[in-house]
Amino acid sequence: MNKEPKKPVIAILSLTCCEGCQVAIFDLGERFLEFLTKVNIGDFRLAEELPDVKHYDIAIVEGTAITKEQLRRLKIVRKKSKILIALGACACVGGPQEIKDYRGDKNRLLRYVYPNIRGIDNPNVKSVKELVKVDFEIPGCPINKDEFFSVINKILKGEKAEIEQKPVCEECPRKNKNCLLLLGKPCLGAISLAGCGAPCPANNFPCDGCRGPRKKINLEAMKKALKYKAHLHDNEIEMIMERFGEKNEIIKNSIKK
Ligand code: SF4
Ligand code: SF4
Ligand code: SF4
Repeated sequence: MNKEPKKPVIAILSLTCCEGCQVAIFDLGERFLEFLTKVNIGDFRLAEELPDVKHYDIAIVEGTAITKEQLRRLKIVRKKSKILIALGACACVGGPQEIKDYRGDKNRLLRYVYPNIRGIDNPNVKSVKELVKVDFEIPGCPINKDEFFSVINKILKGEKAEIEQKPVCEECPRKNKNCLLLLGKPCLGAISLAGCGAPCPANNFPCDGCRGPRKKINLEAMKKALKYKAHLHDNEIEMIMERFGEKNEIIKNSIKK
């Protein structure tokens, strides 16, 4: 009797975050159900609790490890996994929760928010790649479900998956005419990683860079444009770059002039 080929074991894990990226995966609907027929699920907390599994072929991690327990769990998952994918802005660049690290004395803020609670850890928020080795990142807040589906299927087939290094401006229906930045709106499209299809500028909202920055960006030119076209002060520019925790990544990816 022919034995069926072994299905890869997938784990989808959530650390501190809103779990919106997992919801985006559910939103694949029938495609997600079809995906489930090709794999064995080792862990998927939002869907069901499953017994402990010794090895994952692919671990997909959303969120950031804020507590010691989450960091311990992340390290165990890394050890058990052949491929680890960071899912969404929280896992890739820190996410909205990283804003607290950019706002001055974060312990003062902690005392303000939790005046009567003692013993809360308040470490700096770190992306998953700052804590363990990451093999692939799927950006966005939330992720683009079609991009996720394409990437995961390529990885399952052993093919090379790639997030193209082009700016949101290239996908923007406003490019060449009615560009929001030229109209004086603070749009980060020029330095932000495309792949979302530019839904924000298409709907008259500036791009806040939820997919994080491209590699080798000219940050100084972006800041100048925001200053002179959108009339922003330095602190206002910083605040836009902090919304998804991407500021550190923007600085890291900028080329020195
Ligand atoms: S990246 Fe955004 S949607 Fe995804 S888990 Fe983090 S906050 Fe939620
Ligand atoms: S509106 Fe924003 S994303 Fe679109 S072309 Fe202008 S700067 Fe780029
Ligand atoms: S346009 Fe910008 S903010 Fe909107 S989804 Fe794309 S990267 Fe995110």
